[in-house]
Amino acid sequence: MKKIVIAIDGFSSCGKSTMAKDLAREIGYIYIDSGAMYRAVTLYCIENGIFDKDNNIDESLLKGKIEEVNISFKLNPETKVPQTFLNGVNVENKIRTMEVSSKVSYIAAIGFVREALVNQQQLMGNEKGIVMDGRDIGTTVFPDAELKIFVTASAEVRAQRRYDELKVKGQSASFEEILHNVEERDRIDQTREVSPLRKADDAILLDNSHMTILEQKEWLRNEFERAINS
Ligand code: C5P
Repeated sequence: MKKIVIAIDGFSSCGKSTMAKDLAREIGYIYIDSGAMYRAVTLYCIENGIFDKDNNIDESLLKGKIEEVNISFKLNPETKVPQTFLNGVNVENKIRTMEVSSKVSYIAAIGFVREALVNQQQLMGNEKGIVMDGRDIGTTVFPDAELKIFVTASAEVRAQRRYDELKVKGQSASFEEILHNVEERDRIDQTREVSPLRKADDAILLDNSHMTILEQKEWLRNEFERAINS
């Protein structure tokens, strides 16, 4: 059967990763969480003194080091869930903290960071058979993707989902703090100069504010079947 490229973009915490990951597992495609790559670069910056005490980014220091930042993914052999590795170390939990969430959109707005990560993402899609989620997948990384989805939901619904997710992991953050972070990231992602978050003209819009995970999953599976048979 022919293999295609599936690009899933949208706002922060709208359940893109869950639906993308589930679809990839079902259809035997590779799944890439491009947000995890921006998060891993952000963690690298935190751990390597690229933010000063006022949270300013030393861009020239980062530029000199960007080639040293090696990001890869491996499936956890038991859970089959993809884990993010930064220079060989599993950082899956470390990149999901509020500290990383509050800094990542500033790192993701830097042109040379995007260029480096987009290059790697395009290489990953060379053979097709890939589901990638992010903010610029359908517009910049894979403008010729055969199936493009743009996901959205209200900011309150998204913050609640994120709150529940962090609570399960035992990380404390208030609902207000999370809502503020979600809205702030949306603002920075939509207004940055390089590849701002926007729906590609040929992307299918999905507002999942009032959908269950199962409903989204079925909806996406149908869109996949339609794309593969067209
Ligand atoms: O998807 P996730 O919320 O983990 O992404 C974290 C951040 O990484 C986003 O808020 C955005 O600033 C950035 N990002 C991006 N382009 C992508 C994926 C993520 O700018 N393709």
